[in-house]
Amino acid sequence: MIAYIGIGANLGDASANVDDALARLAALEGSVMLARSSKYCTAPIDSSGDDYINAVACIDTPLSAPALLEALHAIELAHGRERPYRNAPRTLDLDILLYGDASIDLPQLHVPHPRMLDRAFVLVPLLEIAPDIVIPARGPAAQFLPAVSGQDISKAD
Ligand code: ADP
Ligand code: MG
Repeated sequence: MIAYIGIGANLGDASANVDDALARLAALEGSVMLARSSKYCTAPIDSSGDDYINAVACIDTPLSAPALLEALHAIELAHGRERPYRNAPRTLDLDILLYGDASIDLPQLHVPHPRMLDRAFVLVPLLEIAPDIVIPARGPAAQFLPAVSGQDISKAD
């Protein structure tokens, strides 16, 4: 299945954490990384601390969506991620944005990611690697870009 993964970090060496996450995603069992966006620098939204480094990766994976979420949590844990409170600064955050054209509504997993279309730090890197991507039940992602144009985002590399 083709999955899009949102990557974010704003603690420690955020840029290195994102690079390492990309390497670990590419190394997931049976998976192939098809594309990765540039890294972007963004101001925290609903969060605090330093600026974030964000990126989006596209992988082809045999993992089910719940198994992929577990694998992402394992990568977060390898970076010592703690969850002291909601939206706390984080060494690494990995979210499943899209899993094929599936709509998933499990207690621990909502896909498409419910907030992805409100966030420039997801939309801009996603559209860099998939300009024509269509979001299940929502339509082309590009049409949501004007609404986030007020959010600060710049290329980090
Ligand atoms: P957030 O990413 O919203 O800032 P967390 O990374 O702490 O916050 O995620 C909290 C929970 O969100 C995770 O434990 C996970 O079970 C759940 N979750 C629901 N949908 C998704 C998704 N599409 N991708 C990743 N996590 C998700
Ligand atoms: Mg998350």
